[in-house]
Amino acid sequence: MSDKKMQVVFASAEAAPFVKTGGLGDVAGSLPRALVAAGADVIVMVPKYGTIASEYTDRMEHVADFYVSLGWRNEYCGLERLVIDGVTYLFIDNERYFKRDYPYGFFDDGERFAFFSKAVTESLQHLPEGFQCDVLHCNDWHTALAPVFLREFYQGLPLYERVKTVFSIHNIAFQGQYADTILNDILGMAHIPNAARQLRCDERSINYMQGALDYSDAITTVSPSYAWEIQTPEYGEGLDGILRRRSNVLSGILNGIDTDAWNPATDPMIHANYSASDMSGKKACKAALQEELGLEVRDDRPLMVMVTRLTRQKGMDLVTYALDRILSGGVQVAVLGTGDYEEPMRYFANKYPGTCAARITFDNALSHRMYAGADMFLMPSLFEPCGLSQMIAMRYGTLPVVRETGGLRDTVAPYNQFTGEGTGFTFANFNGDEMGDAVFRGARLYWDDHAAWDQLVQNAMAADFSWVRSADEYMNLYHNLHPEIDITKPEPVVQEPEPAEPTAVEAEPAAPAPEPAVTEAEPAPKTEQAAEPADDAKAEAPAKAEEPAPKAEPAKKTAAKKTTASKTAAKKPAARKTAATKSTATKAAEKPAAKATATKPAATKTTAAKATATKTTTKATTSKATAAKTTAKKPSTASATKTATKSTATKAAPAKAAAAKTAADKPATAAATAPKAAAAKTAPAKASTSKAATSSAAKATAKPAAPKATAAKAAAPKAAAQDSSAATPADKPAPKAKSVSAAKRTTRKR
Ligand code: ADP
Repeated sequence: MSDKKMQVVFASAEAAPFVKTGGLGDVAGSLPRALVAAGADVIVMVPKYGTIASEYTDRMEHVADFYVSLGWRNEYCGLERLVIDGVTYLFIDNERYFKRDYPYGFFDDGERFAFFSKAVTESLQHLPEGFQCDVLHCNDWHTALAPVFLREFYQGLPLYERVKTVFSIHNIAFQGQYADTILNDILGMAHIPNAARQLRCDERSINYMQGALDYSDAITTVSPSYAWEIQTPEYGEGLDGILRRRSNVLSGILNGIDTDAWNPATDPMIHANYSASDMSGKKACKAALQEELGLEVRDDRPLMVMVTRLTRQKGMDLVTYALDRILSGGVQVAVLGTGDYEEPMRYFANKYPGTCAARITFDNALSHRMYAGADMFLMPSLFEPCGLSQMIAMRYGTLPVVRETGGLRDTVAPYNQFTGEGTGFTFANFNGDEMGDAVFRGARLYWDDHAAWDQLVQNAMAADFSWVRSADEYMNLYHNLHPEIDITKPEPVVQEPEPAEPTAVEAEPAAPAPEPAVTEAEPAPKTEQAAEPADDAKAEAPAKAEEPAPKAEPAKKTAAKKTTASKTAAKKPAARKTAATKSTATKAAEKPAAKATATKPAATKTTAAKATATKTTTKATTSKATAAKTTAKKPSTASATKTATKSTATKAAPAKAAAAKTAADKPATAAATAPKAAAAKTAPAKASTSKAATSSAAKATAKPAAPKATAAKAAAPKAAAQDSSAATPADKPAPKAKSVSAAKRTTRKR
């Protein structure tokens, strides 16, 4: 065992705080620091985009420059160094490729990120003195070619022989698929049969991510559940066959969040600080948020928020379907986001003034205030590789309402009314009524059982989402690749700061709310609601305002709760990981999906960079329709519990059991109706930037498939399901596909 440190080069197309369009930026901004704290030497490589703030570019130090061959080209590559918090950042400088006003969304993204991948690989020869790369850790399709280049072009050089490669999938929906002319013209690999074969995904296209999956020594994704989901055709986006074949090197490591930046005890952006031991500040935050957003300032109304891209992936179909029921049932809703569903959200805000608010913008400070001021956080995603928002919400004592998919399934423990365990409210199928039921399970608890609610809040705030745990898992993975390198952990540096005493900033006493808790009738919201909305809503109100408040639950709940509740969050992921591993093992032998099937959705992906909004919509539609199938194929542990669960869906059974039940109940028809949009695309493999590549974006059917109005089968909120008939008003605007440039700003362009 040598005393050499594990030396890791971490390549990513974005890294906070320099450039971030979503979760990948967060991860690349936080994980390297945690790896350093765990004992590794880390260099992060990121393109030097024109948008990086001058406060950083001014401090960069030029350390090397060389030329990178790309097909027949020789491209300049500069390395600019910046060291922050013990992490060395090397920015890959090439103004032709990266000096633009946005990271992605250009006709030549295939060329740009092929260059980035080659430059990363080439740079391993130009690292600072004493840094000898042991592990090259690549992330998402932008860096997917690096392991391919490394093995095909550099393997023979001694320096590269010891380099092991790890590839992390942050979202398999974005793969980097391009016309195969690029193979010769840009990658210079047409003459290498192995490479050509392993990159090719159909007779005319190659796929960067597919290459990485074949060439990397280890593959990870960002949650255990997503790790097995992507091995199914429903979630695998055409790569499930390869992932099943390589399941022995595939693992899911849950992301963490930056617990310093997201800390209600010290957050300077929120109205009043608070901690688990003194929650008074949260009430002040809620009142201030209600006031800021023009909502009625009332504590007897649960306030549910969303901070998200307004896309189909994030479950906006379910939201627009169920909002009438939710809002007229006495729950306030506030949404912060941009994307394809801006108009529907404006519509609801206009229809329910005082009850619904929409802020169509990207506003980090407001997002902090929303996480802090809300009671519930809605995240009904169609698919969710990991998801950070639900973890942030829990950190702020805001209970998530999520669909049991991917990382949401791994991070949110469903409320168990008998034991008091749980950290939020969950539902299994991609179904608007089930989502509505889950929302009202939460609302009803808020109204009827303050003690149980408060306990859930405590559970959520106690959950550990720091990067320390994830970094340890990555270190173990690296160690498996380099067993000769000792990874004994030094004193931890990244740790949770002590919660400061809550410093109430003008802590107004929360508005003394009428206690609606244990009354026969629905609390105040109901009666008032009828008078509020616009005319069209008034007509519906009487029928919809009947989210019956159940009698207070018997005392049996409270005793069991206390002892077990706080352990739930910690226990759950581990248990699920086991399940995932099992399922993985059994699937390994399965044959990859037939090529013809795999290539269809992939064709849509080809236009990823160019018609983001269209692509997202199209793909999400396909995935959505197939979501139900996946649930049915979850590991056998889930289905084994189905029978037992059936009669007690919302009782003692955990999420897995509930998932099994609902999966069995789910009509299979949704899957059969998946619209498949084909996309025509012209390759961006033009050498000259002056020749704009022509691409015809897929004409996506923007028509959202209405979720089946089957009443949810969950036992407790039975009445809630009844008003699923709340008709979607005829004048409700449909989500509209955005222009490419608008989509660039509002959705992630990978
Ligand atoms: P994604 O799939 O978009 O990466 P995540 O939940 O992993 O979803 O991460 C989203 C991150 O972006 C969270 O930190 C969330 O707070 C932030 N975010 C999303 N939309 C907005 C917005 N409109 N304003 C501010 N922050 C936002």
